Amino acid sequence: LKFSVEQAKTKKLHNLIQEAKGNIRVFCRCRPLRKDELSAGHATVLDFDAAKEGELGILIGGSTKKIFKFDRVYTPKDNQVDVFSDASPMVVSVLDGYNVCIFAYGQTGTGKTFTMEGSEDNRGVNYRTLEQLFKIAEERRETFVYDISVSVLEVYNEQIRDLLASSPTSKKLEIRQASEGVHHVPGIVEAEVENITEVWSVLQAGSNARAIGSNNVNEHSSRSHCMLCIMVRAKNLMNGECTKSKLWLVDLAGSERLAKTEVQGDRLKEAQNINRSLSALGDVISALATKNNHIPYRNSKLTHLLQDSLGGDSKTMMFVQISPSEKDVSETLSSLNFATRVRGVELGPARKQS
Ligand code: ADP
Repeated sequence: LKFSVEQAKTKKLHNLIQEAKGNIRVFCRCRPLRKDELSAGHATVLDFDAAKEGELGILIGGSTKKIFKFDRVYTPKDNQVDVFSDASPMVVSVLDGYNVCIFAYGQTGTGKTFTMEGSEDNRGVNYRTLEQLFKIAEERRETFVYDISVSVLEVYNEQIRDLLASSPTSKKLEIRQASEGVHHVPGIVEAEVENITEVWSVLQAGSNARAIGSNNVNEHSSRSHCMLCIMVRAKNLMNGECTKSKLWLVDLAGSERLAKTEVQGDRLKEAQNINRSLSALGDVISALATKNNHIPYRNSKLTHLLQDSLGGDSKTMMFVQISPSEKDVSETLSSLNFATRVRGVELGPARKQS
């Protein structure tokens, strides 16, 4: 990436702040108990007493309380605006030339899609991010010209599908590395967007395409990773310098482990692929944190696609989504442990996790 002097100064400052804070932020969001859970009398196992300090308590086996620490904990009372307030600085970073990755991780039904996509009357991170991207680009229009394009991909069973392609292609989509080191998928649609209304129709088109060819849309979405890639090309009108940055917004496949008896045939293959890619994501982040020489990006399509936006001076934000119900406690613990691994090591060995 090339930077103007002004950007370089901001970048230097950013780097200093980042060095102090680490490049990965982990936020925990808990959904409310559903109506059916309330009527069935499910108890909640979570304790939000110290949520303001980023601490979450979870009751295990009735009496033992384990504490997890995050950059912030959102309780069921926190809304989409509260959640976006933490994602919003990432938007500025993208327009300043940084690569960014924001992803939601967790068991199916814990609110990954609620957080990332939201609904038309309760927009999530994806829409709000793009809305703000256009807003800031407009504020900077006397200094910068920005070209923004959007791609919508799905990774299912280790295969990439272009959700904006006009007709399904039998050609396998592969990840390539361009001469300047940037990873891309040749042949995918990059929809140029000029404003948020255009973005909304692109996102809708992607969402509709996701449903095609699957008998059960909900099941299919919970077993595939839905990935939006926003490319931002910036030209500085003062000195003619150009930068290119990439923002990934990812709604991951459900992290739940399946009972061995339940898993056979195609379902087994799906489960193994989900497992493989989510473990690969954890491994990449750990390897980055421990400054390992080899970062295993290529162990899954997910991490290979995200390569430019994980590590280096890119910024990563993870939402670990959880259920408050006692019935989900083992999956909740497993998600919290994954998130702790992601967060704990990245912030350096000096910061012990409880
Ligand atoms: P996932 O994508 O993890 O499978 P969803 O986003 O589909 O989960 O959420 C499951 C259900 O819970 C949906 O009906 C959703 O509207 C609801 N839900 C999730 N998070 C919240 C929240 N924070 N507040 C209110 N409802 C929520």
